[in-house]
Amino acid sequence: MKLFDVYPLQPVTITKASGSYVWNDAGVRYLDMYGGHAVISIGHTHPHWVKRIEHQLETMAFYSNSVHLPIQEELADKLTRLSGKDNYQVFLCNSGAEANENALKLASFHNGRKKIIAFHKSFHGRTSLAVAATDNPSIIAPVNETDAVIFLPLNDAQALADCFQQNGDAISSVIIEGIQGVGGIRVANNEFLQLIRRYCDQYGAVMIADSVQCGYGRSGRFFAHDYAEIDADIYTMAKGMGNGFPVGGLLIAPHIRPKHGMLGTTFGGNPLACAAALGVLEVMESESLIPHALELSNYLMEQLRKIPQLMNIRGRGLMIGFDMPPELGTIKNRLLSEYHIFTGEAKPSVIRLLPALSLSQAQADDFLQALQQAIQTHSITTS
Ligand code: PLP
Repeated sequence: MKLFDVYPLQPVTITKASGSYVWNDAGVRYLDMYGGHAVISIGHTHPHWVKRIEHQLETMAFYSNSVHLPIQEELADKLTRLSGKDNYQVFLCNSGAEANENALKLASFHNGRKKIIAFHKSFHGRTSLAVAATDNPSIIAPVNETDAVIFLPLNDAQALADCFQQNGDAISSVIIEGIQGVGGIRVANNEFLQLIRRYCDQYGAVMIADSVQCGYGRSGRFFAHDYAEIDADIYTMAKGMGNGFPVGGLLIAPHIRPKHGMLGTTFGGNPLACAAALGVLEVMESESLIPHALELSNYLMEQLRKIPQLMNIRGRGLMIGFDMPPELGTIKNRLLSEYHIFTGEAKPSVIRLLPALSLSQAQADDFLQALQQAIQTHSITTS
């Protein structure tokens, strides 16, 4: 049987991973500045995380949400402490799309409304509502088309004001990434997030902070939206939450009340996933990875700004993007094939850096040196 061919693949076979490195099937080591698409938060195969999962596997891998599972409460308590979202409730699921799908649905259950505001270049996942709120018509199947979603330009206060004035009483939710990932590392500015908060309060809409990619410490704060000093009504999480173990979740403000049967999942919140998620939070805390990410980010950005060919260096924490001039468009492939470094991209010419939060300064330096060399040798061969 063939694999359903939906992924354009890099010409590399990865068979081993540790920390910020991965190895191919010939034993060649690669520096992972892409974190398996922002998933690796505490480093590949972190020993504490592995032990946590192994222990849980030996004790009890699975039981369903029809019984009391204390490890879910342990995770909820730890999440409260690290995120600072006191009195929030948690709903556990399996992926980013599922988290957003549930958040949009929950908002609609909560206020009985149907309209959603999302933003240009957003990405919220591939399930029906999540994909409808994603600004990419090529991945929206005819069956997912809906007039429920209104797309507005990011950081455009006037467009937001006009939209609320016209549709205020129909708006169920506003969904926004703190930093757009797939859209090319575009930061939602603080004033804009504060404005969304104010309009949501005024009109009774639910503010959903999509933190699937920019959350879980990646930005240097637990949630990237925290930079605006506001609380969203719902935070959605996945990617870094499990460090590679599939787990997602929603943090839900106390005024949104649950009802039995309102949401549900077979696998969400299973003990193995909870063990993985707890392992991640424990390492984040014991290794102070969030402050480390912030510190290293300042260093990385400062150094990147010294490379004249790179444009619009932006981002927060270890979620960094920059534009490459068209003549250097092949740098990402060269970094991979010649320097054995994985980076991310966003079309048409953005390089995205999404390394593990445990990346060291020496590893950052190796990346910077390789990038400079790749740019220099490119200039030499083409001049
Ligand atoms: N939301 C954001 C901001 C994302 O970047 C992604 C995935 O890239 C998703 C949601 C969807 O997550 P998943 O692929 O786990 O469904």
